[in-house]
Amino acid sequence: MFTNTYSKLPEHFFQRVSPERFSDPRLICFNSQLAEEICKEANNFSQSDLAQIFSGQKILEGSEPLAMAYAGMQFGHMVPQLGDGRAQLLGEISGYDIQLKGSGRTKFSREGDGRSALGPVIREYLVSEAMHALGVPTTRALCAVTTGEKVYRQFGYEPGGIFTRVASSHLRVGTFQYFAIRDDLSGIKTLFNYTLDRHYPELKSLSNDRAKAINMVNNLIERQANLIAQWMSFGFIHGVMNTDNFSVGGITIDYGPCAFMDDFQFDKSFSSIDIRGRYSFDNQVPIAQWNILRFVESILPLIDTNQENAIKIIEKEIIPKLDLFEDKRDQIMARKLGITDYQNEDKKLTKLFLTYLENNKMDFTMAFRNLPLLFNGDDRLYKKSPDLETFLGLWKKRVRKLDDLNQINPIYIPRNHQVQRVIDGAYENQFEKFHEALSVFTQPFKEDPDLKDWSLPPKPEEQIKETFCGT
Ligand code: AMP
Ligand code: MG
Repeated sequence: MFTNTYSKLPEHFFQRVSPERFSDPRLICFNSQLAEEICKEANNFSQSDLAQIFSGQKILEGSEPLAMAYAGMQFGHMVPQLGDGRAQLLGEISGYDIQLKGSGRTKFSREGDGRSALGPVIREYLVSEAMHALGVPTTRALCAVTTGEKVYRQFGYEPGGIFTRVASSHLRVGTFQYFAIRDDLSGIKTLFNYTLDRHYPELKSLSNDRAKAINMVNNLIERQANLIAQWMSFGFIHGVMNTDNFSVGGITIDYGPCAFMDDFQFDKSFSSIDIRGRYSFDNQVPIAQWNILRFVESILPLIDTNQENAIKIIEKEIIPKLDLFEDKRDQIMARKLGITDYQNEDKKLTKLFLTYLENNKMDFTMAFRNLPLLFNGDDRLYKKSPDLETFLGLWKKRVRKLDDLNQINPIYIPRNHQVQRVIDGAYENQFEKFHEALSVFTQPFKEDPDLKDWSLPPKPEEQIKETFCGT
């Protein structure tokens, strides 16, 4: 069933590991639809088999569990060694990494216990599947189990869980930085070729490393620019866009303190560790650009061994492409307003609308969802303001298409207070709400009057202002 191509790379790329023993692993949820796409046989396993396999108690043929080495710039500061401290890669199925999160310590665990509390397991399951349903490239959720053990966290003992994540790869900018900071040119080349195989096979026929590297970066810029634009179009704040959480395949990876915004605010951030708002909503574009440059730095010798030459090439062939991040963001926001023939001027219009939302503390998701009503003269759901009048005057002239907006602007997103409610239930061993939430969030565009509660922003007393990594 499994292969493990990463385990064939040089030994200093990873550590071979064995998942820990857990007393009583039990299945919470198995994503049989995803299994149908990538590993049909898994749908024949019994519930207890699934609990054994996806807690690492039973290792299937071909799987060679390992922890990947990587570095990372955390909040702008280089940490030469991070690595999978609580994640263990079982191997690949159908070209996808299958990884356990919370299955025990590795040599990269530092002070950590290598485990995961149930809260982050539930959060990542719901949010990553919601993101997929919204059409955002992301890691997926294959399985969640409870371990039967407690883990100690900031607020005391919590039930333990293990999350199984599926990814087109777990290669990050930080993986490249691990070798770059050690001046390990052969490591960089090996990783680069491996990345071509996994994510950019069409570039392999190019004649030299320079061409491959420049094209890889420009492809990545395109993927990440689309990705960040999509995040922002749904009010998603990743929360910890360190280079070790920044995929070189262009997918969303690592759902720690992430959150969807309720009231719109340009500089909104939730993460308890993001005190200065480095990873706030609006900073996601400049931070992504910065992360791309850290990637370019780490593969610099592939562009030219002479640093000055390399920089000249980068200035000419890569830096101008970074504007794509702003362009994609502005285009997608305009599309949410029903503008299909984006023009440069339209970004002023989206800014006007967003500023109106910010000044009037309006809910981001509902404000977009109700636009067809607003267009047709029903403004009951919008706070009165001269800004709204100005916007309406300009917007009505620019709207091209309204009838597909309900497939673009979702009604159900995993709001913080709802996710928290599900987690609270799970901590009481109640998983009905989890399953209900999952079915709602994986149909984000289809309105169902019976599910009205799930579309509502939090009441003041329900508002969650801070999110935690939970590690
Ligand atoms: P993250 O904030 O989840 O991206 O994790 C940052 C680093 O901390 C990574 O190297 C993780 O593997 C490590 N880490 C996070 N939680 C734990 C834990 N419970 N035990 C060991 N290492 C951890
Ligand atoms: Mg991480």
